[in-house]
Amino acid sequence: MSFVLQLRGIAKAFGAQQVLHPISFQLKQGERVCILGPSGCGKSTLLQIVAGLLRADSGEVEMDGRMVENGAQYVPPEKRPLNMVFQDYALWPHMSVRENIEYGMKRRKVDHGARKERLTQLQALLQLEGLLERLPAQLSGGQQQRVGIARALATEPRVLLMDEPLSNLDVKLRTDMRNELANLLGNLSIATLYVTHDMMEAFTLADRILVLREGRIDQLAAPQELFERPATPWVARLMGYHN
Ligand code: ADP
Ligand code: MG
Repeated sequence: MSFVLQLRGIAKAFGAQQVLHPISFQLKQGERVCILGPSGCGKSTLLQIVAGLLRADSGEVEMDGRMVENGAQYVPPEKRPLNMVFQDYALWPHMSVRENIEYGMKRRKVDHGARKERLTQLQALLQLEGLLERLPAQLSGGQQQRVGIARALATEPRVLLMDEPLSNLDVKLRTDMRNELANLLGNLSIATLYVTHDMMEAFTLADRILVLREGRIDQLAAPQELFERPATPWVARLMGYHN
């Protein structure tokens, strides 16, 4: 079994607040894991540690067989084989769609021909035809999020990190994008760590769901398993059992 991502005993405190108690889990090649939990339970903190945007207090992160974070070693985000999609899209406002998508590839010195080919693929995959020369402000929320995803996929990361990518969209669009994203991620078979507080999203998108509560893993299992055999009263309540 090959893991693309391994966390061992990752812990984090902000001041006196212990936000993450030692967390361990693994992500297999092509697997989609949703981190599900209420606001403030530590989801974004965990994702940022995986991304390298935040240091852990203790524990280890290994990506693609390479140690990227432990007491002694720290590999910065741009040198990790990952990319991230944010809730607020975080597109560069002064750059066109094309420039936004190409930026990461240019930084990694992908040559012109390969960039062009990749851009054509992503444009078709994410339905961005006719939008490449626009600025982010000239796009709808759904289109901006598609550009965010295209940008994240452009550098062919081994792991895709998504932090509540749909929560800024209105309800109708969110439902459409949820299904679109499920298809897309299913077809790409890229290992994905997807943060959400929305149960429907988790159930639609995930191979396994990691239920995070107050910085601890309550359960990590396939959606069906969570539903049939909730490991804690909290998970049972999440699944709609009234005990
Ligand atoms: P979630 O993404 O699940 O909503 P976060 O990981 O953003 O939760 O935050 C978890 C807890 O850590 C919250 O109580 C939050 O206020 C706190 N927190 C997050 N980032 C910081 C920070 N940079 N400094 C201090 N406290 C923080
Ligand atoms: Mg968050």
